Amino acid sequence: MATVMTDRAEVRVLRPDSAREAVTLARQHGGTYVAGATWLQPSCERGRNWPPFFIALDARWPGFRGLQESHQGLTIGALTTLDTLSHHPLMKEYLPCLTGRNGLMNLLAGPGVRRLGTLGGNLMAGGDLTALAFALDARIQLVGDDDPRGDRLVWRYPDLKSTDLISALVIPDCRRWRVAVEKLGHRERFSPTRATIACVYDGNRFRMAVCGEGGPGRLEISEAALNDGAASSTTTADWYQALDAELEGLGWHDARLRLAIRRVLVHQHEELSDGD
Ligand SMILES: Cc1cc2nc3c(=O)[nH]c(=O)nc-3n(C[C@H](O)[C@H](O)[C@H](O)COP(=O)(O)OP(=O)(O)OC[C@H]3O[C@@H](n4cnc5c(N)ncnc54)[C@H](O)[C@@H]3O)c2cc1C
Repeated sequence: MATVMTDRAEVRVLRPDSAREAVTLARQHGGTYVAGATWLQPSCERGRNWPPFFIALDARWPGFRGLQESHQGLTIGALTTLDTLSHHPLMKEYLPCLTGRNGLMNLLAGPGVRRLGTLGGNLMAGGDLTALAFALDARIQLVGDDDPRGDRLVWRYPDLKSTDLISALVIPDCRRWRVAVEKLGHRERFSPTRATIACVYDGNRFRMAVCGEGGPGRLEISEAALNDGAASSTTTADWYQALDAELEGLGWHDARLRLAIRRVLVHQHEELSDGD
């Protein structure tokens, strides 16, 4: 079991020179990676549970910051800040639903957190971007997975080991896709999200995912029931039932919240089907 401490002053911060050294240090010392610290700091303060070592990640390491287009789609460095994502021209091109005044990024925490918080930290904390990453079939690049063709990239979250270091998220070319993301909460900002719901239509199939109170997950059973419904004579009632059971199985135990998620998904599905 990992050692924890109650006194913040005893925590040591290790500053590796490279991403590979960071992974080596994490393996040797069982340390915790720290990016913007916006999630870690309040969690450690709350639980008075400080790890003996923080391993500071460095945005200057190659590939860890910024956005780059390639034949695989769009590669976004894990240490790219949430603020950068909210207004970057490539994000406007690939995922306009995230940007602008009404975009999801503007509802994700406040400006101070967005300036420090990073994409990698948001994914590891199960934040709002997790549902979207799942629905987009995004892949994570881990330090050490060095296949130059990039075909060994897999979406392994949440099966990641604590020593796995994310260098980037790769999203497919979704410029022609229709994408909807909705966030349910007591208040839009400054209170934990209850559920974030993402629905993606690539012109052929719908993909759906959630994150929040019940945990992140792709809704593969409900997707299959929806996409193959006509062929398998699935009724709307069957689909509702499949969705409810799948959400509960994932850990969404609040029946009212499941109902709210269903309503959002039905709305998103109608919206994204419009014109087909
Ligand atoms: C007041 C407040 C409001 C917030 N509101 C929202 C909200 O509305 N929606 C939302 O989605 N989030 C919200 N958050 C959470 C915020 O999005 C996260 O705090 C932020 O994205 C985490 O990024 P970070 O770089 O600060 O991560 P850190 O706090 O540094 O790290 C978070 C976790 O990720 C791990 N980690 C970080 N980077 C990597 C990496 N590259 N590879 C492997 N592991 C890594 C760390 O070890 C740690 O376990 C809020 C936070 C605060 C403080």
